[in-house]
Amino acid sequence: MNLRKGDLVEVIAGEDRGRRGKILRVKLTKDSGRYRVFVEGLNLAKKHQRARGTTKPGGIVDLPNSMDASNVALLCPKCGKRSRVRREPHEGRRVRICQKCDEIIDV
Ligand SMILES: [Zn+2]
Repeated sequence: MNLRKGDLVEVIAGEDRGRRGKILRVKLTKDSGRYRVFVEGLNLAKKHQRARGTTKPGGIVDLPNSMDASNVALLCPKCGKRSRVRREPHEGRRVRICQKCDEIIDV
């Protein structure tokens, strides 16, 4: 699994194909062992939210639904291309490195 919260990704399959967004959350599905991601502004679903006190009114809000991690591709923040990554140790920790431009993705 090479995706993380905060990564910029491009959708490569499904209705939102070609659209880009930032990963808000990564979730591991226990039964299938697959990863799902929530991408900002994509795959929106209407959620009916109950009012919680006076500060959070209820109503219908658009919230991103999760999509399978295999439907998105990481966009390298350095070269801007859809990229695969490899992992290498760097200064005592493992970092992700873009296969296209050889730059370290994690800062
Ligand atoms: Zn790159």
